[in-house]
Amino acid sequence: MSNMGKPSHEEAEYFTKIEMEKRQAMAEKVKSAMKAEELEKLKALHWHHCAKCGFEMHSVVFKGVTIEKCPHCGGIYLDAGELEQLAGKEGGFVSAVLSIFKT
Ligand SMILES: [Zn+2]
Repeated sequence: MSNMGKPSHEEAEYFTKIEMEKRQAMAEKVKSAMKAEELEKLKALHWHHCAKCGFEMHSVVFKGVTIEKCPHCGGIYLDAGELEQLAGKEGGFVSAVLSIFKT
């Protein structure tokens, strides 16, 4: 009768597996938390900065819509929906440009 040790060995293996899975899940959690932190850092670093030259952008009101303008290169950043907002007011040309992107 030497099969007494076998189940406990399997049990130990089972718990090792569970422990490994637990640690793996923990590592994933830490990894995703780090990723969120990295994203926050990135956001803080780039927030309100020109995508081209990195200068701090200034909010200007253009045709009633607040847009971000770079004082260095003159680049303009529009928030989601702002281009449509301007296009709606402007009609004609901008709507025509927008329709290119919508195809
Ligand atoms: Zn710029």
